Amino acid sequence: MQSSAESRSTVRSTAIDPITDAILGRALDGEGLNDSDALHLMTLSRDRFPALFAVAGAIRDRHKGTTVTYSPKAFFPVTNLCLDRCSYCTFRQDPGSPGAWTMLPEDVRSVAARAQAVGCIEALMCLGDKPERAFRPYRDTLRVLGHDSTVSYVAACCEIALEEGMLPHTNAGLLSREEMRDLRPLNVSLGLMLESVSPRLRARGGAHYNAPDKEPALRLKMIREAGELRIPFTTGILLGIGEDDAERVASLRAIEELQRELGHVQEIIVQNFRAKPATRMAGCAEPESYETARCVAVARLMMPEMNIQVPPNLNPYDTAIFLEAGINDWGGISPLTLDYVNPEAPWPQIDSLARACAARGYRLAPRLPVYEEYAGSEFIDAALQPRMAAVSLAHTAAK
Ligand code: SF4
Repeated sequence: MQSSAESRSTVRSTAIDPITDAILGRALDGEGLNDSDALHLMTLSRDRFPALFAVAGAIRDRHKGTTVTYSPKAFFPVTNLCLDRCSYCTFRQDPGSPGAWTMLPEDVRSVAARAQAVGCIEALMCLGDKPERAFRPYRDTLRVLGHDSTVSYVAACCEIALEEGMLPHTNAGLLSREEMRDLRPLNVSLGLMLESVSPRLRARGGAHYNAPDKEPALRLKMIREAGELRIPFTTGILLGIGEDDAERVASLRAIEELQRELGHVQEIIVQNFRAKPATRMAGCAEPESYETARCVAVARLMMPEMNIQVPPNLNPYDTAIFLEAGINDWGGISPLTLDYVNPEAPWPQIDSLARACAARGYRLAPRLPVYEEYAGSEFIDAALQPRMAAVSLAHTAAK
């Protein structure tokens, strides 16, 4: 941890150019970054990182203190069927393939009961995008389960998780306003990664060429509508899928503008692409940790008060770098279930993550799947308030 004065002195003692010096000085003085400043920082060379991280870390400390959070969760991959075909994804399957699944209600209840027993609070409903639009066998499965849409079935799964004492957070891909309205009384927050505003990624050969629901305009529309519905929202950007530095800045700016207007973006995930075998992007370069950390630092300077998160299981050896660069959260971590989207990447042990945080002067603490600043407010549906209160009380007692 550094004070603002120490950060200023780190900036001064590090060999940096006058333009960077001026931008970092303005950021420390509480001025926001314009796009040109942000792009300048997004392209800084490695020898400038100590100065950038010193300022980003000081701004994080100023707004978030010395507590870094995580959400104890269980992952419910309700179905891995998906109408999209992102070039980097190993989660999605076609009906009939050996790895395809749709969780049954009894599976959901069993996982929820075991998760609650080991202290998990967040029920992350994370699944493929609208498979009923692409696959007749899946529509038949839904019908047998008594539902005519994935969202209707996910809502039933959320009810089961609530009955078992968990708080749902759903990321079911692109949702309409009506679908979000239906999920709101059953979810303390919803999520959708923006990933990138770059339209180039949807062109032939791009990471999202075969993923119609990754159209940036559609995703921005959903994030906006979530704000209009007063739903706390998690979003983020995915680094290394073909976007350039200006597009990274544009993606962060798009989120910042929605947050400034509607106030519902509770956190931003800065996630690094991982090259997976047997995908079309298997041979593509992965972003280095320092590149991801530079983006974290720029995000922190663009949005000083935002909760900013990097998934720890995708960066197991670089905890210190991200703390230095300005994160204040590690996202969901499960003692029970895999990260089904990245099953090759185990979650860290909480004890060892706590020690790593402590070594940098930070306290690791659990949080709910909705951040404190939204709990008990107009952002939480009245139907959920009693359950929120009960879970919050138990959570506080266990701390
Ligand atoms: S990343 Fe998500 S939307 Fe893309 S194919 Fe995989 S499950 Fe579907």
